[in-house]
Amino acid sequence: MNILYLSLKIHKGVVFVERLYPRFIVIHHTAGFDVPALTIDGYHAKQGFGVKITSPKPLVEEYIRRGFRRTDGGVIVCIGYHYLIRTDGSVEKGRPDFIRGAHCVADNMNFKSIGVALTGNFCSKDNPRGEKGLTRPSKAQVTSLKELVHHLMEIYQIPRENVLGHKNVKNAATSCPGDRFVFEL
Ligand SMILES: [Zn+2]
Repeated sequence: MNILYLSLKIHKGVVFVERLYPRFIVIHHTAGFDVPALTIDGYHAKQGFGVKITSPKPLVEEYIRRGFRRTDGGVIVCIGYHYLIRTDGSVEKGRPDFIRGAHCVADNMNFKSIGVALTGNFCSKDNPRGEKGLTRPSKAQVTSLKELVHHLMEIYQIPRENVLGHKNVKNAATSCPGDRFVFEL
């Protein structure tokens, strides 16, 4: 596995950790079945999305308790999204908010946004009859998404116009989160 560590900048012998300061929220569907964050972590590990998290210690321990892979002095988190919203409306934490994402290359969004994904495949062309997962967001998912987005907008002071579906990001060539995804803040 190809592991991308926290990007470090060295300036005059001092090491700085490049952290994410979220200014946007990008919404996705997973394009698949309703599976836990840890399962998606496994898919994304194969794509080399991993970051090593060494602090704060209680956070590292929480990830290890949840089943993420322990490594010397820390834990490897590979899921590209910061949050995953399951069909039953439960919100699972993906990578920490302060770590760059691996969910949207377009417009450099991995470095300036929080990535939120709903399990399901809401694209009518790709998933007409539900053979690839839930065909549209569940009521519970929409309720949780609203709550989560409002919460993130408040803590990071993100304006409404900076909350985007993946396909609405400048230069994004994707149909994600699908034409059946309709969301009003
Ligand atoms: Zn997407």
